[in-house]
Amino acid sequence: MSLPSLKQQFAELIALPSVSCTQASLDQPNRPVIERLATWLTELGFSCEIQDIAPGKANLLASYGSGPGGLVLAGHTDTVPCNPSLWSADPFTLREADNRWYGLGTCDMKGFFPLIIEAVMPLLTQPFRQPLLILATCDEESSMSGARALAASGRPLGRAAVIGEPTGLKPIRLHKGVMMERIDIHGHSGHSSNPALGNSALEAMHAAMGELLALRAQWQRKYQNPLFNVPQPTLNLGCIHGGDNPNRICGQCALEFDLRPLPGMNPEELRAAIRHTLQPLAEQRGVRIEYGPLFPGVPPFEEPANSELVRVAERLTGHRAEAVAFGTEAPYLQQLGCETLVLGPGDIDCAHQPNEYLDLSRITPCVELLRGLIRYYCLLLAK
Ligand SMILES: [Zn+2]
Repeated sequence: MSLPSLKQQFAELIALPSVSCTQASLDQPNRPVIERLATWLTELGFSCEIQDIAPGKANLLASYGSGPGGLVLAGHTDTVPCNPSLWSADPFTLREADNRWYGLGTCDMKGFFPLIIEAVMPLLTQPFRQPLLILATCDEESSMSGARALAASGRPLGRAAVIGEPTGLKPIRLHKGVMMERIDIHGHSGHSSNPALGNSALEAMHAAMGELLALRAQWQRKYQNPLFNVPQPTLNLGCIHGGDNPNRICGQCALEFDLRPLPGMNPEELRAAIRHTLQPLAEQRGVRIEYGPLFPGVPPFEEPANSELVRVAERLTGHRAEAVAFGTEAPYLQQLGCETLVLGPGDIDCAHQPNEYLDLSRITPCVELLRGLIRYYCLLLAK
């Protein structure tokens, strides 16, 4: 077998649907994508290990060369769901137009894998002094279960890791965390004519929201980072549901909110602070308050400006490493001891949108950048 062309590889990966979604009816396996990548990489001489995460869901760890250290090139193989009626053509058929390749996953980010293959192929005749690991994960767009399982396994991956999320080929060394949380207040319903007949969950929620906004103000005074467009941590009260009728005391009220902590803020400590303000409120008002995360959350991420990988990537790209607003798998790879950066060819503005594309002008610079990284970490003498 010989490997399909770069464009054919793009087309094949796009044609294998791999939507991950918290709604079970939309969720799909990513295993066909993992198996296709494993076939190609085995053909190139990589040893491929498939790590099963859940039925139909798996990570791929493909390594070339051996020993400690080396480079990890990483990405997720799942995509967000799409609405085909909003696309100008089938999202699962690669289409070339306007000097772009259109298709779901071209930019975010199945397209990164063929670019890695393109970069590494001509180097395979040379001895690898340190290994190259290609890591392909599942469920990044939903639960991050792939990266989370990898981090939990604790196995060291390499000295440096680059995640090819869409950053327009600019290195990214910081992002905020993502937390989505829920508060349920259980009071007692009763006739509105006499407040003594019930215990309003809605009024208790009003007080809880006041506490949350006070905590937000406190955190925003304490934490700022000018590298971010929005330099403070944010807390958004996203939705609230409670009560049924004006003449009933509200018995139940639920609030969901989103919190974006800056690097240096610990999600567990933030949760503890929230719990600490809610507890006295429950006692004062005689209601029961449940509080917890809607999903495990993504920790904030920061790779120090003076780390080796940041300096190498800044030199190869000619761009200073920056911050972005979206969360990635970077904190999990960092937990495994890798210096970690987010750096890939797509544009975030067209990710998670109809008519997602990769601009063809990004292909050569991305391949050359990846080749430069592989040369630096895997071919040159280990330092
Ligand atoms: Zn992505």
